[in-house]
Amino acid sequence: MILLVSIGMVEGRVIKAVGEFIGSYYASLGIPVAVGDSLPENWFSDAYNPLRRQYLGRKFLPPLSKLRMEKKAHAVLGITSLDLYEEGLNFVFGLAHAGLGAAVISTFRLRPESYGDAPDEGLFIERAIKEAMHELGHVFGLGHCPDERCVMHFSNSILDTDIKEPVYCPVCFGRLKKNLEVEL
Ligand SMILES: [Zn+2]
Ligand SMILES: [Zn+2]
Repeated sequence: MILLVSIGMVEGRVIKAVGEFIGSYYASLGIPVAVGDSLPENWFSDAYNPLRRQYLGRKFLPPLSKLRMEKKAHAVLGITSLDLYEEGLNFVFGLAHAGLGAAVISTFRLRPESYGDAPDEGLFIERAIKEAMHELGHVFGLGHCPDERCVMHFSNSILDTDIKEPVYCPVCFGRLKKNLEVEL
């Protein structure tokens, strides 16, 4: 089972759309997706960096991993509207750790308004789905893919995210299937 949880305030329709998409995609691979209770933001307050006014992404993963073990899930994906960063990077859209079986994505930089574009709810949700698929791919052992249309292509900016399809290319899909056979 893949457990999807919101962290703090996240619009219900984003969780619903991401849950439905990864739910139907991963169901075809034999893994059901469940939406769990929202986690309080203060679980992650030690990730906050007041100088940057951002949250250190990696600190989200151990608590999510602990939840994964409690719930006996294969993977946990957290969705937050908090702004995430990593050392050496201005921000990250999300991150994952295969060993921990955990990933987190941020919706903070996915809104068209953040880039001076007109609000577009459909585009916002599409971006969230792509980030979710990307980080779950990492959880299940996939690396970055050179195919810019593949959801496992690295997103340096939102333009890279918009070029991608929301799914794995045939090569990544083949690897994912193999990895899941070992895991399940
Ligand atoms: Zn990545
Ligand atoms: Zn690929």
